Amino acid sequence: MSDWRSISLWLDQLEEPLTPRAPLTAEVDADVAIIGAGYTGLWTAYYLKTQAPQLRIVVVEAEIAGFGASGRNGGWLMGNLLNDERMLHRLPAGQRAASSALLHDIPDEVGRVLERQGIACDYRKGGVLYCAARYPEQRLRLQAQLVALRELGQSEADYRWLEADELARQLRVQDAEGALFSPHCATIQPARLVRGLAACVERLGVTLYEQSRVLDWQPGQLRTAGGSVRCDWLVPAVEGYAARMPALSPHQLPVQSLLIATEPLTPGIWNEIGLARGQAFSEASRQVTYGQRTSDDRLVFGARGGYRFGGRLRENFQLNSDEVALRRRLMLDLFPILKAAEITHTWGGNLGMARRFQPHMLCDRQQRIALSGGYGGEGVGASNLGGRTLADLILGRDTLLTRQPWVLPQAAIDQLPRWEPEPLRWLGYNAIINSFVHEDRVLAQRHSATWRRRLAMGMAGFMEGLMR
Ligand SMILES: Cc1cc2nc3c(=O)[nH]c(=O)nc-3n(C[C@H](O)[C@H](O)[C@H](O)COP(=O)(O)OP(=O)(O)OC[C@H]3O[C@@H](n4cnc5c(N)ncnc54)[C@H](O)[C@@H]3O)c2cc1C
Repeated sequence: MSDWRSISLWLDQLEEPLTPRAPLTAEVDADVAIIGAGYTGLWTAYYLKTQAPQLRIVVVEAEIAGFGASGRNGGWLMGNLLNDERMLHRLPAGQRAASSALLHDIPDEVGRVLERQGIACDYRKGGVLYCAARYPEQRLRLQAQLVALRELGQSEADYRWLEADELARQLRVQDAEGALFSPHCATIQPARLVRGLAACVERLGVTLYEQSRVLDWQPGQLRTAGGSVRCDWLVPAVEGYAARMPALSPHQLPVQSLLIATEPLTPGIWNEIGLARGQAFSEASRQVTYGQRTSDDRLVFGARGGYRFGGRLRENFQLNSDEVALRRRLMLDLFPILKAAEITHTWGGNLGMARRFQPHMLCDRQQRIALSGGYGGEGVGASNLGGRTLADLILGRDTLLTRQPWVLPQAAIDQLPRWEPEPLRWLGYNAIINSFVHEDRVLAQRHSATWRRRLAMGMAGFMEGLMR
């Protein structure tokens, strides 16, 4: 692979030439060796190096920094973790408040580093709008979610309901019935963030090797075709690519997410749509749709993709016509005004899904391996928290970061929950996703019978329950 710009709109927009850094061609020694130059690997390097500048840190990347999900995502930088409510629920109220505050602070922490290090990545903290649109059940779903959030102690300042007229001041969506708004989210240009971070850690003294695929690794060492690293600590930071690593693959499923982007839209169209402050938006369907307005005035819109039998990674992200048509249809249902807008870019990527759909940050002190992942499509912010947490774990510090319910401060990788063997994984995952697609289709038909709507929702809800 060398046509890096074709990977995503974001890489295509970069001004820099994308010349790969030198590969690993020797035997080197390091204190910490990191596999993968995505956000997780680079944030870990950043927080380690800024707190312990004497450490020799190397990052070994198969392609170029930002090749993976970090150069392809939807650019939502969220102040939460996937399914954090389940983990927070188990905590006493005081501790829960501290954990929530830690999560809500993620976009601000990233903003502070960007400012300090001069990384320009179109960061705008406009919050996120979870819209109730397309069918009335979305409003009920979001309001039930709001009740659950309140029970967790989330205040009006964290999540608040916007009626349709209030929403319309920020975003005009067809048939909107309101939205759940949270200020704890920023939008970014993903490739600018990951490439900016790579340059930043290099300036701090971290060595990056690109086009250096790690062929095998074990505690204390890794090997590529051209060289090897002997290290004290090893950090595999490969998220969706864990499927290719026998030690990690039972614990992390590679799932796709796919996006489309319009051409730059006119000021007139944006006056109709809104999103003037860099808000992220989605609607409350189980298809997991998400979008943002880019700094050059495109609309980027994505939805969840599939899983391949045996955890086979998808390499070719030239979307087929059905994949594009589904996303375009979902986008036009929300924004009919975009009917004539040209779709200029389509792309996708692999993300990592942990068995209980909860991220983990783990430290195996005996083997001296640390890892963070299983973000399940919500890793832009989570990887920053992961990098900070791994740095503290590796430095042997007992901090607020290391005392969270998603952290396993002393555990081996094989203690992570395992996915069922094939064909159960494939059958199970696809049955769940198909029930979501079916539900969405039935609910979006305004005149479908009440019993059909209830049945579709019941089935999808049951399947969602199985995921936990
Ligand atoms: C299409 C899409 C949209 C998304 N949208 C959002 C969003 O809007 N908000 C959000 O929070 N999250 C989103 N996510 C998830 C988020 O992008 C990821 O969770 C996050 O980028 C993970 O970062 P990472 O560094 O852990 O992994 P990656 O960015 O995938 O980096 C892993 C790196 O490891 C390298 N690698 C793999 N194997 C090897 C090897 N053997 N040797 C050396 N290097 C190797 C890869 O080349 C890659 O560069 C999205 C993901 C996708 C795919």
